[in-house]
Amino acid sequence: MSSAIAGPEIERLIQLLARLPGLGPRSARRAALHLIKKRETLMEPLTTALQTAIARITVCEVCGNIDTQNPCTVCSDPRRDRSLIVVVADVADLWALERAHAVNGLYHVLGATLSPLDGIGPQDLNIDTLAARARAPDVKEVVLALNATVDGQTTAHYITDMLGDADVRVTGLAHGVPVGGELDYLDEGTLSAAMRQRTPF
Ligand code: ZN
Repeated sequence: MSSAIAGPEIERLIQLLARLPGLGPRSARRAALHLIKKRETLMEPLTTALQTAIARITVCEVCGNIDTQNPCTVCSDPRRDRSLIVVVADVADLWALERAHAVNGLYHVLGATLSPLDGIGPQDLNIDTLAARARAPDVKEVVLALNATVDGQTTAHYITDMLGDADVRVTGLAHGVPVGGELDYLDEGTLSAAMRQRTPF
């Protein structure tokens, strides 16, 4: 443990910043110093933004998304295709799909994936409301946009079984060669999945 080089308030700021993903102790010190130097143009607006966010952040009771309104911005958007529900594990996945403009439907955020080894079961996921939503008359397709990991695929199988008697098409994301990817650099699992899921050219 190195000795403190600043007062306890600054050390506390550094410790908190160091808990952010992607920031180690060194980057946290650099970020803290940057905030301190830019007190008026960055630190104060950031403080206000954090306080406003804390006061207003809520979980959408329809889809499980995090937003400052309930139902969330996506669920409230009348231009969205209500026949399509894209199931994701985390809000970060929803944001990624939105950044890519890949979805014009609605989402369902599970909050986690099933993981028997870690003791995460269906009761720990936002999954009951999905069963009801998928059975609404206007829903035609449920896309399982889950990670290509054991837990992601376990979750996909569970939901497919759960919706077995529902009148909806249950689909999953394609697995294969990434855009701009070179075959020589791909792992064997990705290559064989790409071969299996080949499409007409
Ligand atoms: Zn929502």
